[in-house]
Amino acid sequence: MPQNPSLSASKPAALVVDRTYRVAVRTLCEFTAKQGDLDLRFTPSATALEGVVGQNVVVARRGPGYLAELSLSGEFENLTVRGRADGYDADANRLEEIKAFRGDLNAMPDNRRHLHWAQVKVYGALLCTERGLKEVHLALVYFDVGNQEETVLTELFSTADLQAFFQDQCRRFAAWAAQEQAHRVARDEALRALKFPHAEFRAGQRPLSEAVFKAASSGRCLLAQAPTGIGKTVGTLFPLLKAAATQGLDKVFYLAAKTPGRGLALDALNTLRSNAPDMPLRVLELVARDKACEHPDKACHGESCPLAQGFYDRLPLARLEALTVPQMDKAALRAVALQHQICPYYLAQEMVRWSDVVVGDYNYYFDLNAMLYGMTLASQWRVGLLVDEAHNLIERARGMYSAELARSQLSAARSSAPSAIKASLNRLLRTWVELENQQTQNYTVCKELPVNFMGALSNVNAAFAEHLAAHSEGTPAALLGVYFDTLHFSRMCDSYAEHSLFDISLIATGDIADIEPTDSVLCVRNIVPAPFLKARFQAAHTATLFSATLSPTAYHLDLMGLPEDTVCVDVASPFSASQLKVQTHRHMSTRYKDRGVSVQPIVDLMARQFAQAPGNYLAFFSSFDYLQKVARALQAQHPDTPTWAQSRAMLEAEREQFLARFTPHSRGIAFAVLGGAFAEGIDLPGRRLIGAFIATLGLPQVNPVNEQIKDRMQALFGRPGEPDKAQGQNYTYLYPGLQKVVQAAGRVIRTTSDQGVLHLMDDRFARAEVKALLPAWWRVDG
Ligand code: SF4
Repeated sequence: MPQNPSLSASKPAALVVDRTYRVAVRTLCEFTAKQGDLDLRFTPSATALEGVVGQNVVVARRGPGYLAELSLSGEFENLTVRGRADGYDADANRLEEIKAFRGDLNAMPDNRRHLHWAQVKVYGALLCTERGLKEVHLALVYFDVGNQEETVLTELFSTADLQAFFQDQCRRFAAWAAQEQAHRVARDEALRALKFPHAEFRAGQRPLSEAVFKAASSGRCLLAQAPTGIGKTVGTLFPLLKAAATQGLDKVFYLAAKTPGRGLALDALNTLRSNAPDMPLRVLELVARDKACEHPDKACHGESCPLAQGFYDRLPLARLEALTVPQMDKAALRAVALQHQICPYYLAQEMVRWSDVVVGDYNYYFDLNAMLYGMTLASQWRVGLLVDEAHNLIERARGMYSAELARSQLSAARSSAPSAIKASLNRLLRTWVELENQQTQNYTVCKELPVNFMGALSNVNAAFAEHLAAHSEGTPAALLGVYFDTLHFSRMCDSYAEHSLFDISLIATGDIADIEPTDSVLCVRNIVPAPFLKARFQAAHTATLFSATLSPTAYHLDLMGLPEDTVCVDVASPFSASQLKVQTHRHMSTRYKDRGVSVQPIVDLMARQFAQAPGNYLAFFSSFDYLQKVARALQAQHPDTPTWAQSRAMLEAEREQFLARFTPHSRGIAFAVLGGAFAEGIDLPGRRLIGAFIATLGLPQVNPVNEQIKDRMQALFGRPGEPDKAQGQNYTYLYPGLQKVVQAAGRVIRTTSDQGVLHLMDDRFARAEVKALLPAWWRVDG
């Protein structure tokens, strides 16, 4: 390997360096026109989808010559300002900015109205210049998503006045733009010169890095299966940062499935700085509101929270100071925010605009209302995504695009609901009971959305909206929570299609024929997130999804909605078959019906292995119940063998204690559940872990929900003439199960000097179709 390895792309980058600073109208106005308190009382505001729908409704009401989504841009000195005005009626010479809202328009804070006027005036200035107009009518069209009515505020402006306003905004932004531009030039120079932080790439790390760099250079997505221990975090960040300079990327988003993943990314970014401590790269960590809020007992407006009071007045200095902190992690940003007496959570949101690398949870980009995705679209950023531990994305995304309501939840909400909401909830509950009465089984998938229920649900949402319009404060948090749930449920119903199931589960004990259900749950259950994720990948210039377990490729491509030209690589493992003795046990069965008789053979095998090679082992089971049965039997028969076990809902300190028992000199067998906290993302190199026992194929439980998912998977992805719904079976049970097995087994060999043993304790591990899903570098005996 060469010293200071460099990367090359197959296609040379052809980027024209633009010396002007480009800014979106919205960003410009938010920078110059926002003042006063942070105030989220005018909520719930219209959702992004309602905003789009509202805009479409207003546009549809206008005449045939109406120009919607009018692209406008203009220049002032070395600033290019651009954006899309919502609509222009040339006959009436009226430019409109459409804002969807919920609630009482009079309750809208003044500073928000001020911002809206600033936006439409900037668009007005751009339009007048472009069309040579002397004057223009500017209109703010407030569209009430509840009653679909418009409130229009109109004013006539001369071009001269608008030009003066535009130039004033630009001048006030100019100094900031100049330093942003200088930063960008310095950042890109530093990234071009950035050296790999280690003398050599690790085995496998270089091909991974090259694949990331090439994908970014050709504007494609990459699905990279790469084994543990090769340094994937640095191996993906380094090439994407190099490509950021050559490809003109505005931002890199590092998206992690879990909190430790964020920590690893921040550590890797620090490592990358080791060769270039002064590198002007702004890194921002996003944390959840409940982790960043300083006043969890207060509401986000100036009359309640001192850190919301005068937020926008104090923001400019705080923003400036935050930029002097190269790594704006949670602690660093909190310190800046508190020094300036503003909210750290909302300061972080502001800093997204001015950061180069943003490290955050998946939901910031993939969620239905994802902030990073929304900002990317609105600001037309060119972004590169790194999706860490990407095997988690399917399950996480399913959760994001699903919605659930329980009848008991709505019944309980009635007690604190004002009369109008109570009446609409009663109507909804009546349609719900009708639906329940039609069921002949405890679980049913409805072929279509139930019409009566949907009508009643929309009435509930309207009643909530009307109530909140009249009482913007004082609604109990629990009742508001119900409103958010019914709104979300409606939204998911709006996008209901074959990617989701609409099902009803009756909660009843005993036979439904005899016993009245005590409750029921309605669910819009997303099972194929691809249609939702697709747009998010399209919005990115490049995306790399990486994990040690992304097999089979077709399954991930089908469910994740990656583009057709996605590059798929399988990075060879640096580990050799001689490092891991993999043993299958053909005479053991861990099927549910066989679990009782499997306990003794498992105990015997564990005892034998431990006597042969004392050290630390992890044993994985499909459930706590199974785990406890085997652990108790082992303790009773082999009391000298140290054991410890995972328990349900362990606290962080307890998890740390569990892991602390794995030392280079300790010995014992730890019991854990497959798919749980100790089955992935933990690192126990060397003698800290020398073997694993896996007493399950990890297959999801066969139940009515999973059987319905299987049928839908078969319908969507099945191959013609295939017997026994094989593809549905694979997509629902086999692939997710084996992925968990391989993740858990991956805890044993962490470095090229590790040695270990793996017992796969089920006869099904010997089947060809199962073996095909195990890592190619394993040599499986038995
Ligand atoms: S500190 Fe908490 S309550 Fe105050 S503005 Fe921030 S998030 Fe809202």
